[in-house]
Amino acid sequence: MNRVRLLTPGPVELHPRARLALAGPQVHHRTEPAREAFRAVRRGLAAAFGTEGEVLLLTASGTGAMEALVGGLFAPGERVAVPVSGKFSERWAEIAGALGLEVARGDLPWGQPLTPEEVLGLMAPGTRGVLLTHSETSTGVLNPLAEIAAAVRAAHPDALIVVDAVTSLFLAPLALDALGVDAALAGSQKGLMLPPGLAFVALGSRAQARLRPYGYYLNLDRERRVQEKGESAFTPAINLVLAARAVLEELLPDLDAHLKRKRAYLERLYAIGEGAGLRPVPAREGVPAPMELRTPATAAFHLPEGLPFEAVRDAFLARGARIAGGQGALKGRSFRISLMGHYPGPEADWAFGVFREVLAELL
Ligand SMILES: *Cc1c(COP(=O)(O)O)cnc(C)c1O
Repeated sequence: MNRVRLLTPGPVELHPRARLALAGPQVHHRTEPAREAFRAVRRGLAAAFGTEGEVLLLTASGTGAMEALVGGLFAPGERVAVPVSGKFSERWAEIAGALGLEVARGDLPWGQPLTPEEVLGLMAPGTRGVLLTHSETSTGVLNPLAEIAAAVRAAHPDALIVVDAVTSLFLAPLALDALGVDAALAGSQKGLMLPPGLAFVALGSRAQARLRPYGYYLNLDRERRVQEKGESAFTPAINLVLAARAVLEELLPDLDAHLKRKRAYLERLYAIGEGAGLRPVPAREGVPAPMELRTPATAAFHLPEGLPFEAVRDAFLARGARIAGGQGALKGRSFRISLMGHYPGPEADWAFGVFREVLAELL
């Protein structure tokens, strides 16, 4: 079978260090080498998140970590604010609603970067927290987290700031403690370039102090106690933990250069697309968003009038590449192309060439 390369915003092309680690023999998770890897990954991820707090590993997709955080930090009936401007911010609102919280949901145009005022506008006195999406993978927006977090901290010092960083970790600069973010999460199949199956939860000191028992499998309060010993309450995806350690060893010492490369790739993708007349999805009132409010995780474009997504998808597939369509409100109206996975220079150049060819053929 010819290999089709992933230009999708998750899962992504695997890091070669991950593939090597996954080819090894099975290890048992209750052994010292496994515990050592487990601890190393927790430490490495805490550095990547930019927190002195702790990181817990869950065997789940990213959504499992979202649920664990909402359940672990808020009691039913407590009020949280959720600005919704894409598929993943909508997921925060759905989870909070499913767990019985009072959700102050603000529906904003999809693809529009959030402003601090829009977030504060949802926070009545007594709001216990705000659930934010840093990189809204469904629309290509990178929300201005520093400004939003500063505004929330100033106006609502007791509210917890909880951030979905699934496609900003390892893609955009992140420093939870410095920004005053209390808790965040990510998943293995995005910026870390691993297969799906592991989720990461970062807890700063205020979030740790508020943690309460929740449910059974996704109980962070229990996990925190067990993970101190380098184990987890149930069988962890230990193979993925070993792979995570291998990739972190390579990524962490040179993280800034990695982030710069991803940012440069994004700018190339938009230059090619916009140069051919495509409109980027990140925008406010029709005006394209500045580059710093577009996530390095994926470029997102509106489909030109009359061009169905399937035609674009198939033109990429004919050249050995898979892209993604729009989600939710943007389904059938946009497409997304991502170099979030392992794309060293020559392979990125191949992807840019494919994109140019597809546009030349279809436009
Ligand atoms: C991928 C992703 C998630 C998690 O999705 P899962 O399918 O549960 O891993 C959450 N938030 C964002 C922004 C994502 O891109």
